[in-house]
Amino acid sequence: MIEIRKLSKIYNTHGTMTHALQDINLTINDGDIFGIIGLSGAGKSSLIRCINLLERPTSGEILIDDVDLTKLSSASLREVRKKIGMIFQQFNLLMNSTVYDNIAFPLKISKVPKREIEKRVDELLELVELKDKKYAYPSQLSGGQKQRVGIARALANKPDIILSDEATSALDPTTTESILNLLKNINKEFGITIVVITHEMSVIKKICDRVAVMENGRIVEEGNVIDIFSNPKTLVARRFLKDMFAELPEGILLDDRNQEEEILRVSFVGDSATKPIISYMIKKFNIDANIIAGTIDRIQNAVVGNLLIKLVGDKESISSAINYLTENKLRIEVLKNNAP
Ligand code: ADP
Repeated sequence: MIEIRKLSKIYNTHGTMTHALQDINLTINDGDIFGIIGLSGAGKSSLIRCINLLERPTSGEILIDDVDLTKLSSASLREVRKKIGMIFQQFNLLMNSTVYDNIAFPLKISKVPKREIEKRVDELLELVELKDKKYAYPSQLSGGQKQRVGIARALANKPDIILSDEATSALDPTTTESILNLLKNINKEFGITIVVITHEMSVIKKICDRVAVMENGRIVEEGNVIDIFSNPKTLVARRFLKDMFAELPEGILLDDRNQEEEILRVSFVGDSATKPIISYMIKKFNIDANIIAGTIDRIQNAVVGNLLIKLVGDKESISSAINYLTENKLRIEVLKNNAP
C-alpha cells in the first residue's frame, strides 16, 4: 500500500517559491490502477516523482508498506526503488543501446548474473511482443514500440509498483489503446499496483479503478472512477468530463418563469432502466417531464449516464416525483427551483 501523508513540495528557483504540492493525503491500495488527473501545472508530475523520491518532498511522508521513504538511507532507498518501476512520456531510453541492453540495464545495476539477465529480458520481450526487435536501436522503433521497451525495462526487477508519467501522451489513439491494454494486462496478471498521471479522462476511463483530481497543487476530488464519472462534484472534474456530462444549453434557465418547474440532473450507473421509471413518474404524479440533454457511456463494464430533465407541475407533485426517482436509486441534483 502507498500512503501519502501531508505531502508538500515547494520549489525554490532563485528565491521564487512555487508551492507545487500542498497537503496531499492519498492512499493507494495494492493491485489498484490509480489515476491522477489535472491540467498542466496542477502538480501531477511533482506528486508522482515524490512517490519514488525522484523529487524530495519539502514535508510529509511517503509510506510504502509502512516504510517511510523520506527517512531511509540512500542504500535502503536504492533497494526500495528497485521495486518501483517508472515509465515516461518521452520513454527515456538509452539511444545508443539496443532494445536488449535497455531492458537489461536495471538488471545489470542490480548485479543480476548474465545468464539470468538473458532469460529475464527474453521473457519481457515476449510479454511486450517485441521479440523480433531484440537487437534494434530505439531510433528504429515506433513510439508505441519505444514505450513497450520502457515498460519492459520498468518490469525488469519485478516491481510491486509502476509509476506512469503521461506514458501515452506522445502516442496516437490506436497506439495509446494498445499500451493501456498492456498496462491493464500487467496489472491483472502480476497484481502490480499502477499509478498513472494523465491530463486525459479517456486514460482514466479505460484502465483506472480509482482517480484523484488535482488542481493548484491539491487533490480536490477523489474516489472510484465510476462514482466520479457519474457524479463529478468539482468544476475541474466536470470540465474533464464535459463530453460525457450533459450540460444545460445556454438560455434554458430563462424559460417559463411563470410556471412551477424544476430542472434536474438525473445520474445513473449500471443498467437502471430510467425510461420506464420516468414514464411511470409522469403518469403517477401527473407532471410533464421534458428531456433537455443527456449522455450515456460505458466505463469498463458499467453503463454511466446522465439526463437533464425539466419537470413541470405543481410543487407538491414535483417534490413527490423527485422522491420517487431517488427511491429508484437515481441520483438527483436540482439545478433550478422556480417555485414560489
Ligand atoms: P503537472 O505535472 O500537473 O503539469 P508539475 O508538477 O510539473 O505539474 O508542476 C507543478 C508546478 O510546479 C508548476 O507551477 C511548475 O511550474 C512547478 N515546477 C515543476 N517542477 C519544477 C522545478 N523543477 N522547479 C521549479 N518549479 C517547478
